[in-house]
This record gives sequence, C-alpha cells and structure tokens, in this order.
Amino acid sequence: MAYEITGHTVLTGLLGSPVAHSISPAMHNEAFRQLGLDYAYLAFDVGTDKLETAVEGLKVLGARGFNVTMPDKNKMCMLADRLSTAAEIGGAVNTIVNDNGILTGHTTDGIGFMRSLKEDGHDIIGQKMTLLGAGGAAAAILVQAALDGVAEISVFNIRDDFYKRAEKLMDTLEERTGCRLKIFDFSDEAVLKREIGESRILVNGTSVGMAPNTDRCIITDDSVFRKDLIVFDVIYNPEETLLLKKAKAAGCAVSNGLNMLLYQGAASFRLWTGQEMPVDIIREKYFRR
Ligand code: NDP
Repeated sequence: MAYEITGHTVLTGLLGSPVAHSISPAMHNEAFRQLGLDYAYLAFDVGTDKLETAVEGLKVLGARGFNVTMPDKNKMCMLADRLSTAAEIGGAVNTIVNDNGILTGHTTDGIGFMRSLKEDGHDIIGQKMTLLGAGGAAAAILVQAALDGVAEISVFNIRDDFYKRAEKLMDTLEERTGCRLKIFDFSDEAVLKREIGESRILVNGTSVGMAPNTDRCIITDDSVFRKDLIVFDVIYNPEETLLLKKAKAAGCAVSNGLNMLLYQGAASFRLWTGQEMPVDIIREKYFRR
C-alpha cells in the first residue's frame, strides 16, 4: 500500500530538546507503513518553557498521542489528566495518549526493560536484582520490576539528589507492591559485592561506559561476575560496553539497552494504535547488531 499523508492522517510525535537525533520517528513511521496505518510521527524540538503550550496545541489539533523525552518527563506528569500506576509512582511520563482531549500519561521504559529480558529467555519474577543508579532509566526499571513481581531490589547510587528522590519513591513502591527495596551508597564496595552475590541479575542503569567514555566501567571488582548472573546494561551506544565485555568473558548472560529501546517504543505504539509493532522488521532495519 502506498504511504501518503491524507486528510485523515492521525498525528503522533515527540516533544523534547534535543530531538533531531531520535530514532523514534523512523521507528514509528516504518511501523505505521508496514501495517498500513494512516498515522504519522514527527519530532518537535520543544524546551521546558514551551512544553505546556505545545501539549495544549497537540490536544487542540487532535493528536492521538506523543512521546516526551529529556528534559520534561517529570514535568509532563503535572500536565496529564490521568497517570498509569507506573507513571504515578515513578513521577515520570514518556508517553501520552489523547482520548478526546483527556490526556493519560504512561511510562514505557520499564515495560521495554522487562520485555527485553523476557525475549532473551530470562525470568526474574520472584528473584533479586541489584540496580546501579537512580536516574530516569533506573527509576523506570525499578518501578516496573517491582510492579511485575521482582521479589527484592537493591539500588546503589551516589548520595545526592537522585538518592533522596529514590528513597521517597522506594517508600511508596514498597507500600504498593510486595517488593523488598533497599538503597545503598555506591562507595560501599563490600555491600555492593554482597548484594550482587545474592542477586540473579545486575543492571547498570547509569550512563557510566556510554560513548564517548567507553573505557569506563561502573564495576571495578571483576570477581562479582559469576556464570549464573545476568548482566544488563541500559546503554546502547556502544552496543557492548566494557561492563558487558567483562561480564561476557566471565560467562554471564548479557544484554544491552537496544531491545529495551525498541520495546519501549513498541509499548507506546500499542497504546496509540491498539496494534503490535512489527518489531522484527524494525529491529532488522534500525537496530541491526
Ligand atoms: P540520568 O541523568 O537520569 O541518570 C544517570 C544516572 O547515572 C544517575 O543515577 C547518576 O547518578 C548515574 N551516574 C552518572 N555518573 C556516575 C558515576 N560516575 N558513578 C555512579 N553513578 C553515576 O540519565 P538517564 O537515566 O536518562 O540515562 C542513563 C543511561 O541510560 C544513558 O546511557 C542512556 O542512554 C540510557 N538509557 C537507555 C534507555 C533504553 O531504552 N535502553 C532509555 C533511557 C536511557 P547521580 O545521582 O550521581 O547523578
């Protein structure tokens, strides 16, 4: 089927700054084309000061929904009429669905993480996780993992604003789920080693090791790696961080952040269209490893 913009084309898109580098327009427009859906996805470079106006504009224009990226995932919570449970607990929104002027905020990064693990054949429900970092990506993982039934999560972060915010988030999350949550200071290496030793999975939710600083690794003691430990890195550039290289060499099962990125997009796509994104085609075309 020819892919054309028509008088009926449904608008979706991305708000944030910067957005020009984003893979989301290519990913969503290809998926719309593959399924013959009369939708389009555009990227709008909108800073915090213009967010509210842009959201109001998209609502008036009847957009079906949109993604929100840095720096406004937190602010978007305040502008939504309703929030999914994960968005409400995490205080962050990356996807808005517009139902006749009612905006519902969702967060799909954590959904992407959980699906990525499942597709790699790992079941971490009822198990223990050690999570490094408490920023945006790490918080999304923390919330979704606890909601989905991971039994215990130990978070490590530097004692700063993210640490304090995570403490509050974890109090709420513990009340709302059965998950046992603890937060520790990164500098306590003996505790880090102990917690990883008790965990089924180690997740790097920090930006340490991301390009261009590819010679950096968040783990300095290689003896934490053991064959039955899953090591997941949210970073997708480079595709194999130093952390994943070391873990793989020690026999761990490893995953990078590429599938998490793909599946968070697939979750937004489903929310807007009610259909499954053809992820194999999108992966082959845009996420080839
Ligand atoms: P944030 O800035 O929100 O969080 C960064 C985190 O990294 C914070 O917890 C920060 O801790 C920690 N950190 C940074 N430097 C250090 C250090 N030297 N030692 C210890 N901790 C450190 O960023 P995001 O969460 O948005 O992004 C983090 C990474 O996740 C990026 O590489 C990004 O590309 C990736 N990402 C991947 C996604 C995917 O779908 N795969 C989705 C979103 C992000 P502190 O409190 O000290 O600042």
